[in-house]
Amino acid sequence: MIYLDNNSSTHLDAEAFEAMSPWLQDRCGNPSSAHSEGQAARRAINAARSQIADMVHCEVDEIIFTSGATESNTMVLFGARYGDAPPRRILASAIEHASVHSALAGVREAGIETVTLPVDNYGRVTRDALAACEPQLGDLLSLHWVHNESGVVQDVEMLTRLARDAGALVHIDASQALGKVEVNAEAVGLHFLTLSAHKMHGPKGIGALIVRDGAALKPLWIGGHQEGGRRGGTENVPAIVGFGAAAVTIHRSGPKAISAMLRRRNRFEEALGRLGATIIAQSVERAPNTTLAAWPDLDANEILRRLDRAGVLASSGSACSSNIPAKSRITPALNLPDDLLSGVVRFSASRETTDDEIDLAIERIGLVIFSLGGCVENAWDQVT
Ligand code: PMP
Repeated sequence: MIYLDNNSSTHLDAEAFEAMSPWLQDRCGNPSSAHSEGQAARRAINAARSQIADMVHCEVDEIIFTSGATESNTMVLFGARYGDAPPRRILASAIEHASVHSALAGVREAGIETVTLPVDNYGRVTRDALAACEPQLGDLLSLHWVHNESGVVQDVEMLTRLARDAGALVHIDASQALGKVEVNAEAVGLHFLTLSAHKMHGPKGIGALIVRDGAALKPLWIGGHQEGGRRGGTENVPAIVGFGAAAVTIHRSGPKAISAMLRRRNRFEEALGRLGATIIAQSVERAPNTTLAAWPDLDANEILRRLDRAGVLASSGSACSSNIPAKSRITPALNLPDDLLSGVVRFSASRETTDDEIDLAIERIGLVIFSLGGCVENAWDQVT
């Protein structure tokens, strides 16, 4: 099987698995217990906190562990505060992840105004688009760092500076950025940062919200004193330990892994071009693992079904919405020609994807496109 759906979820890092194992079985202490086993669990959580702080450049006490990016995003959109007051307006683009999009509908019901930031033809929020919304004190800007479908990278540093200078709070969802671009919370100067472990070779069901610069946050889960009273509930010790170990690997593999992925992605995209695909947003900065390819007049679901049978796993967009017909928020936003809209397939590799897997994937994709009668230049020559 050639797994090219890493933006949906990734393999668990071997070191993360090893680090988690004892905490899944023998080591059962509750980190809030005063006895030695409880305190060992507390130390394990604290170690993971340091590992994650090193990865994203923040302080350990700025990290709140959550169940993943959906919870972190929900927490910010419902919980960010100016003193005791919720934001006056929340500014977000039309192509945010479903977890943000749905939470925005909820905050509107709660009486908070939301403003949709337009994106350019590549899915980027420009300086002018943000400036036109006149961010100001009392606003919250909420944006993704890397888009989950297209891989397009937002200029979060520039956008954060603009919003901050105007007095607004800034939240960035970095779920798809970790291990793909350098994530430095301090350098960007944001207030809230969302992380998800299973997008970066950590376990599922664990993530974090980083809360910086004394930004105020009303908790979603009240009850326990855990996470400094900001997220009640017994900590998921094995998952937190695995998240920390995965963060160490990301930090260690750094720019070298990123450039290796980029080299592979470029080669893959050149081949897909010869197989008749248009690569969406190809000319702008994108994550080094993500290719959103469109085949004119072909049906993405049929391509994916045949690819699956051929042992290549990809996706038609965000995995969270793959059962819903109107799945992609990004393709309508990009003004793509009509003939491209039906045949959009996302391939997302990881640092573990090999050159051989890319070669094999190209060959099998060529056969599938050929079998569907796609407009493949010299397809048969390419795959035989
Ligand atoms: N934000 C983005 C940008 C994502 O890609 C995802 C996962 N598809 C999420 C949030 C939700 O992440 P989780 O599965 O950790 O809740």
